[in-house]
Amino acid sequence: MKMLDIQELNVRYGVVRAVLDAHLHVNDGELVVVVGANGAGKSSLLRAIAGLNKHRGQIEFAGKAISGLRAEQRVKLGLSLVPEGRHIFGRMSVLENLQVANWGSRTNSNAEIADVFARFPRLDERKHQTAATLSGGEQQMLALSRALIRQPSLLMLDEPSMGLAPKIVAQMFEIIREINAAGTSVLLIEQNARMALSIANRGYLMETGTLSGGGDARVMLDDERLHEAYFGKS
Ligand code: ATP
Repeated sequence: MKMLDIQELNVRYGVVRAVLDAHLHVNDGELVVVVGANGAGKSSLLRAIAGLNKHRGQIEFAGKAISGLRAEQRVKLGLSLVPEGRHIFGRMSVLENLQVANWGSRTNSNAEIADVFARFPRLDERKHQTAATLSGGEQQMLALSRALIRQPSLLMLDEPSMGLAPKIVAQMFEIIREINAAGTSVLLIEQNARMALSIANRGYLMETGTLSGGGDARVMLDDERLHEAYFGKS
């Protein structure tokens, strides 16, 4: 079954066409990655799916057309976005950040917060600390936890590796892989193409608003053209 099915999606800002006739799908249980350079339109694509910007085209989520729904209605259906730059509440504590996310959750019980702390012991240790004083990696874990508390069936992540040290990036990708292995479908947007593809089932490439690919992530990892343009020297 297709968890997410997008057809002819377009996003424009005045004369700038950020997403052009995009087609993309995520099957139930898959981890799908969209790689591409800075400014290629990846964030615009994710924000359109989440209902955070104006867009045209068809978006189906779990078999239901959602293009006309507001962002919070999409979240209620089980679609969560961890935005680029994290957007946590810096002056609130870790616990308060989680409580705010929990207000809108399906059950709003303390069990969900306890689950987060069991998965991320570092957040448990720092639960009374102000979020702004967390390290970059801890802030990203908090942002991810806020999305997970809503128990999404599709988790979308916008550049989770941004600004993190390489060791923390590796941990973050491992956590994303585990979340997916536990049954949550994932759509991941990343400039860190090699690492993202190494945990993905399938991958797309975004270039100046146009999506291509959609095949096996391992095949993309071996693609010489991608090596030169997106994998860097490492
Ligand atoms: P990045 O990794 O830098 O976020 P991206 O691949 O996510 O890049 P987008 O942020 O989606 O790319 O931007 C796609 C294009 O749309 C860029 O040319 C950008 O300048 C433009 N753009 C994005 N947001 C707006 C906006 N609110 N108003 C006008 N133009 C925008």
